[in-house]
Amino acid sequence: MNQPRLTVLAGPTAVGKGTVSTYIRDNYPEVELSVSATTRPPRPGETDGVHYHFVSPEEFDDLVATGQMLEWAVVHGRNRYGTLRRTVKAAMDAGKTVLLEIDLQGARQVKESMPDANFVFLAPPSWEEMVRRLIGRGTETPEEQQQRLATAKLELAAEPEFDHTVVNDDVQRAADELVSLMGLTAHSH
Ligand code: 5GP
Repeated sequence: MNQPRLTVLAGPTAVGKGTVSTYIRDNYPEVELSVSATTRPPRPGETDGVHYHFVSPEEFDDLVATGQMLEWAVVHGRNRYGTLRRTVKAAMDAGKTVLLEIDLQGARQVKESMPDANFVFLAPPSWEEMVRRLIGRGTETPEEQQQRLATAKLELAAEPEFDHTVVNDDVQRAADELVSLMGLTAHSH
């Protein structure tokens, strides 16, 4: 069977998408992790062009206006993030197996334009674990915590829109399952 070469990984906030994609970046160089553009400033240790293309709001406006974004979204009501068409096209033209780690709004946009891509939902091991991760830091007010939980419920309801679900019970195991779903051989054990 021919595996689609583009896989989209999405899921609720705080489910650990970033941890899984970092694990893949470090252990599976055969996976081409698409580098997104963002208006968020770099965090310590992040390199432009490696973790993100860090752009100004004006540059982001221009990328959208000139149709260079395959998808884009405002994440956590703050910064804009988007996938550049040319990044995906270059990787696919080079025969690479491409992974987009994006938010749910972005995943829905990709499904509109590339319905044959492979859509993978990263799910928490349980609702209780999700609550623990969301309010774990305890730095938010009760109102903010309720808001986060309400958002998480809505996000969890998106699971049936996806082709596959991977449960993030263990980062290495989840990453290996994802890599297998991409048609590659898991080998990090
Ligand atoms: P962070 O700021 O922690 O690096 O990422 C925050 C969120 O932005 C993550 O949930 C990630 O999935 C999402 N994100 C990263 N890149 C993109 C992108 O290109 N498009 C969309 N829609 N979301 C993205």
